[in-house]
Amino acid sequence: MSEPIPPGTEAIRLTDIRFRYRGAEELALDGVSLSMQQGELLGIVGPSGAGKSTLALVMSGQIPAFVEGAFGGETLLFGRTTRGWRSADLAEIVGMVYQDPEAQLYGLTVEEELVLGLENRCLPPEEIRERVAWALDVTRLHDVLEKSPYALSGGQKQRVVIAGVLALQPRILVLDEPTSALDPRGKSALYELLTTLARSGVTVVIVEHDIERLARHADRVCWLEDGRVAAIGPPEEVLGRPAESAVGVLRLPQVAQLAHRLGLAAPYPVTVERAAEVLGHRLRPGRVEGD
Ligand code: ADP
Repeated sequence: MSEPIPPGTEAIRLTDIRFRYRGAEELALDGVSLSMQQGELLGIVGPSGAGKSTLALVMSGQIPAFVEGAFGGETLLFGRTTRGWRSADLAEIVGMVYQDPEAQLYGLTVEEELVLGLENRCLPPEEIRERVAWALDVTRLHDVLEKSPYALSGGQKQRVVIAGVLALQPRILVLDEPTSALDPRGKSALYELLTTLARSGVTVVIVEHDIERLARHADRVCWLEDGRVAAIGPPEEVLGRPAESAVGVLRLPQVAQLAHRLGLAAPYPVTVERAAEVLGHRLRPGRVEGD
């Protein structure tokens, strides 16, 4: 981390973001405004085509700097506009992990993969060694240090990409469906890591289909629909309320669907722990109606 950030600092502010990809007719984002405090973990969810990946690109500064299209509005990362940014400016502040790990691998070995980005930033060798050791530690990649990243499993490749981005120690980490190539254990490990990073002050944005995991780990969830923010707030507020349509019930975590079927009032519990609290007394043996 280049300099200490005071607690309560605003990490990201988006104001009325509109974006249309070059050649496209429709806006991918249509008036998105939101802000994030430093150290927050925000999950982005919504149907396919809603604009989640595009929003991730805006929050990581890739749009408007490196993606062609028509951009309106303003993105501030730690108070600085991302308009006109160069990649060196971005690397200091924000790291991005894309869906497809292969597209982000360059090194001949895992070690080289981690060292390359740091050498490009002209860090002293001692600091490079320390950062690589830390990134290997948190992503559990020691065993494959000498291997080619291309010889690894999908989950391991994803971890190499994440380790490479973490080694740069960005203040903001944006991940676009990073768990799609991970097995359940790998997913759990990644979420534990992200939670730890957020507690240590890194601002984390994650596009994710697995709403059960977001319900458990995110501070807030942003529900996108048709390029707009349909809802944003704590997981129970956003994921614990069915949308207007009947299909809207399907987007709820399973424990919330159960609460819905039992006829409880929304917002429904969205984690197993909370569901156990809310539903526990209903299920206790020997309970009779009117208890
Ligand atoms: P999501 O991640 O929610 O599936 P995206 O952000 O990928 O949504 O896409 C939002 C809209 O932008 C969609 O209508 C999609 O077809 C369009 N889109 C995405 N990428 C491009 C691109 N490179 N060129 C043109 N249109 C795109």
